[in-house]
Amino acid sequence: MTTSSTSARPVSAMQLRAFDAPLEPTRIVPSAAGPGAIVADVTHAGVCGTDMHLQAGRMQIPLPVILGHEAVGVVRELGSGVTTDATGQRLEVGDAISWMSNIPCGQCFYCTEENQPSLCESRRVYGINQSSADWPHLSGGWSEQIYLQPGSTVIKLPEGATPDAVIALGCAGPTATHAMQSMAEPREGDVVVVQGSGPVGLASAMLAQLAGAAKVILVGGPANRLEIARSLGIGDVHVDIFESSAEERLARVLAETPGGRGADFVIEATGAPSAVAEGIDLARKGGTYLVVGQYTDHGTTMLNPHYITKKQLRVLGSWAFSAADHVQYVRSVPALAERFDLSALVTHYPLARANDALDDMRSGRTLKPVLVVGDAA
Ligand SMILES: [Zn+2]
Ligand SMILES: [Zn+2]
Repeated sequence: MTTSSTSARPVSAMQLRAFDAPLEPTRIVPSAAGPGAIVADVTHAGVCGTDMHLQAGRMQIPLPVILGHEAVGVVRELGSGVTTDATGQRLEVGDAISWMSNIPCGQCFYCTEENQPSLCESRRVYGINQSSADWPHLSGGWSEQIYLQPGSTVIKLPEGATPDAVIALGCAGPTATHAMQSMAEPREGDVVVVQGSGPVGLASAMLAQLAGAAKVILVGGPANRLEIARSLGIGDVHVDIFESSAEERLARVLAETPGGRGADFVIEATGAPSAVAEGIDLARKGGTYLVVGQYTDHGTTMLNPHYITKKQLRVLGSWAFSAADHVQYVRSVPALAERFDLSALVTHYPLARANDALDDMRSGRTLKPVLVVGDAA
């Protein structure tokens, strides 16, 4: 309830000041937590494919900005009126917490009438569209502290959910949760194909396995990624797209499904437009095709819509995630972490080496760079 415990000591953060340029370290004087807000000490912050796009100037965002839309930390200060997390659990200074990257407006058509806040067009997103030039300045996770504004979805980490496990999948975890639990769910016993072995693909494969899929066929690459997936038990069958043709992949999937019918449930998590026509081929008649990976606009592709009709295919898109998905995802981390060694996906970097982390992600040297901040470093 105090508003004076935050020291005025400036905190370190990594700031994007110009597109196509390295991030620069900066120091910012933090504000005390106002009513409804929380000041948190960041302990772990994920580096995501989106951050590479932001740095390259592929999205319209205000500069300067402290990047970091995926992070976990510890409550440093609770503003007046903040007593519980999003699930009603009591919240205290020192609690390890996760927060959702965005705050929907709560007023638009999608927030109110449609009840689809992931489609809100005026979401405030930490680490993306909140400039560090504007109060409260500390609005990104690549920083020693973050100011969690009123309306943020904050959840205390459940037992069995270490910060590394929560951040290992980053925003891919709640993204896959929204797709596979809010939009369409595989049924127990389904044969599931996941196209793509990046974080969204791996998260989708794991969630399908937890949901009781009879078999998960992971179609992706390069080989080292599939090897990591195989060694962690993510997916049952692994098909390397760099070592196979589309015809070979189709033959392989048909051979792996009962009666050679094709997959009951196909998830696209590649971001490549051409994968969509192939996904339609891999699904059985009456199956479900969930398109999750087309996050940036890479243009058009050739596909034959006859097969959507002929197969009576259920084709669904899924965009981002809501507060409920974020909470649901964090709650599922202990079960995920028990079955899969999530921390094996992560490579740690100190905050000051954020540029190296971005470079290593760009070159594919690491699957999931995570900046470890402050005392956790
Ligand atoms: Zn809205
Ligand atoms: Zn992300």
